[in-house]
Amino acid sequence: MLRCIKCGRAYPGFRLVCECGGPLDAVSKFEKPFGDLLRKEYLDIRRYFGFLPIREEHAPRLIPPVTPIVEREVNGARALFKLEYLMPSGSFKDRGTYVTVAKLKEEGVWDVVLDSSGNAAISLAMFAKSEGLKAHLFIPKSTGEGKKRLLEMLGAEVHEVEGSRMETHEAALEFGGGTYISHWLNPYFLEGTKTVAYEAFEQIGDVDYVISPVGSGSLFLGLWKGFSELRKMGEIEKLPVFIAVQAKGFESLCTRSRGRSRLAEGIAISEPPRREQMLKVLRETNGACVSVGDGEIGNALHELWDMGFLVEPTSAVVLAALKKLTASGEIEEKSRVLLPLTGSGLKTGLGH
Ligand SMILES: [Zn+2]
Repeated sequence: MLRCIKCGRAYPGFRLVCECGGPLDAVSKFEKPFGDLLRKEYLDIRRYFGFLPIREEHAPRLIPPVTPIVEREVNGARALFKLEYLMPSGSFKDRGTYVTVAKLKEEGVWDVVLDSSGNAAISLAMFAKSEGLKAHLFIPKSTGEGKKRLLEMLGAEVHEVEGSRMETHEAALEFGGGTYISHWLNPYFLEGTKTVAYEAFEQIGDVDYVISPVGSGSLFLGLWKGFSELRKMGEIEKLPVFIAVQAKGFESLCTRSRGRSRLAEGIAISEPPRREQMLKVLRETNGACVSVGDGEIGNALHELWDMGFLVEPTSAVVLAALKKLTASGEIEEKSRVLLPLTGSGLKTGLGH
């Protein structure tokens, strides 16, 4: 069941927003402890079926695996990189797509519309190909050639929009054909991304900080939901401090800069619809928003490549933020910091 965060109205099935315009949240109530709900026979996302609002018989054939965590020291802090870019389509989006597609199958929806800066579209195109779904994908014309080529190879129907990421979102909204499933709004997408928190907890226990890139918040809010549920189940005592990293010129949670990042295309979203929810997370966890520019992103990207993490530029914002916060002393030495590395550099390597 879905519930409106603003007015409390409940809805069954698939839906993006409440009639009042408020964002929706999938309501979860767990009757057993975390360990008892785990499907221990699986070492992939199916391990968390007991926490997901989907039916096993509708689960897609394509299965997101558990991603590794690699620890490195960064300015005295313990950086715990979660390698989300190793997902089948090369980004964490596969988690959200998996849960969404299961729900759509349950509802009998086979014709869908999505806008994306690239990764969510590639993820959906991959699942659509495997499940026989028809997907109309809207991307900005400026999307990297490598990502466009992948979409083409996956046989997706792509609509290139002349204009910004926000304008791409509007074009998809206005498109008549198919069910619109925006991952900016879709509550089932967050149900998928919350499994990053579950996995991390099983792999490394609790952490002091979570640093996440924030555009629409589809990873940030999923991480928060996962850790919040772990706390409700009594597995962790308190939530980690949540740090939202945004790209210069596209800040929605901290003061908007004048210059504009060209590197962080995955988070170039100036007006995310779940903004209020994200601000609440920052307040609740005593967190902060950090803004980074292309110089910092470029440096962090090279460092990540040197460490052997072949990620795309958007993914590097988390290391840029960690370096800033450790240098200023806001993150103390020996702190345990979870940093998801969100998207593969192999896609951008195909041509940018
Ligand atoms: Zn409402």
